[in-house]
Amino acid sequence: MTEYLSKRLSAVRPPQTIALALKVQQMKAEGHDIISLGQGELDFATPEHVAEAGIKAIRDGQTKYTAVAGTPELKAAIARKLKRDNGLDYEPAQIIAGTGAKQLVFNAMMATVDAGDDVVIPVPAWVSYPDIVRLAGGNPILVPMTAADGWKLTPDALAAALTPATKWVMLNSPGNPTGALYTAEELAALCDVLRDHHALIMADDIYELIVHEGSFATPAAVAPDMVDRILTVNGVSKGFAMTGWRLGYAAGPAWLVRAMDILQSQSTSNPSTISQAAAAAALDTDPAELQPRLTRLTARRDMVMEAIAKMPGVEAATPPASFYVFPSVEGLMGARTPEGGVIENDMDLSNYILAAARVAVVPGSAFDMPGHLRLAYALSEDRLAEAMDRMVTALSALELP
Ligand code: PLP
Repeated sequence: MTEYLSKRLSAVRPPQTIALALKVQQMKAEGHDIISLGQGELDFATPEHVAEAGIKAIRDGQTKYTAVAGTPELKAAIARKLKRDNGLDYEPAQIIAGTGAKQLVFNAMMATVDAGDDVVIPVPAWVSYPDIVRLAGGNPILVPMTAADGWKLTPDALAAALTPATKWVMLNSPGNPTGALYTAEELAALCDVLRDHHALIMADDIYELIVHEGSFATPAAVAPDMVDRILTVNGVSKGFAMTGWRLGYAAGPAWLVRAMDILQSQSTSNPSTISQAAAAAALDTDPAELQPRLTRLTARRDMVMEAIAKMPGVEAATPPASFYVFPSVEGLMGARTPEGGVIENDMDLSNYILAAARVAVVPGSAFDMPGHLRLAYALSEDRLAEAMDRMVTALSALELP
């Protein structure tokens, strides 16, 4: 019955991550003890005071529609956060809340991208960017980054990718899947390249609060003369372990926010009223309260890096931010498994690791960078230690080419 599907949808790739997730589900159902390093979701609970704010909202009857772009209270909390943490000044008309950061990226693309428009996406990148651009009818222009450059887009690579058709440039720091973190100077250099070009800039700051070393910077703050073309996207999913609350936000020029509001009014309307109340409480959280969680995440990252050092053919520099490590596994291509199979690519390797170690990891090709794996260390320390032991054993059993 696929003839019923829209052309729009047929442009979208079947996500490799779904095939992996289905396999994991099936193996779990068969009774296997699978440890997943696949999910970009923290095991931590939503902070108590945030959950309480959600419960209070229900009890107080805050269970009705709100303004499409969010309540005045939430917008005020977002504005306070942007001022306090980023030194940015935004009016309510320049702020929109949505059902996760993902919806805001989607709305921004749907509101601005036409057939023939290019969107520059430095890769490896979050799986959704290219497909959201395709759904909007645009062309994702994938610009490869390298481990040697710390998985960061260079000004030269950006300059070479720009054409008159470039409508957007997507920047994501801290980055998924690599954990790369741009300095203010690096962002300023990219903004310098874009200053005389008409492209809009998307700054996806969703991992802002997960920085192990270095300081977070955001384009709107480093290039204040360009704020009319910058959309800053953020949310509570990652920093506050609130993925299921589905609450993200964006701040940018009023004309763009208005357009996104119109789109949203014909899809989801306002994000959950209850989640808005909880998110307002989250955004007013003293960062010191989150420090113990961050300390644990840093220790987990170090645990993964120690294990990687013991894995033959696997290499990665220590990522400064987010909860991902994105090692190269090029050294394992052509390796023979104990069963006599050959590892031809990163998908084969992730299948082997799943079968031999009962650990799920995402192949780099899902992020448009084959020859790598993404390991999310968003699970408990004991399970992570177990996963690392199993991976070291399984990879040591390969016969290297
Ligand atoms: N942006 C990036 C880079 C992400 O990795 C994710 C989630 O994985 C999102 C946005 C979406 O976040 P949300 O849960 O707020 O929709």
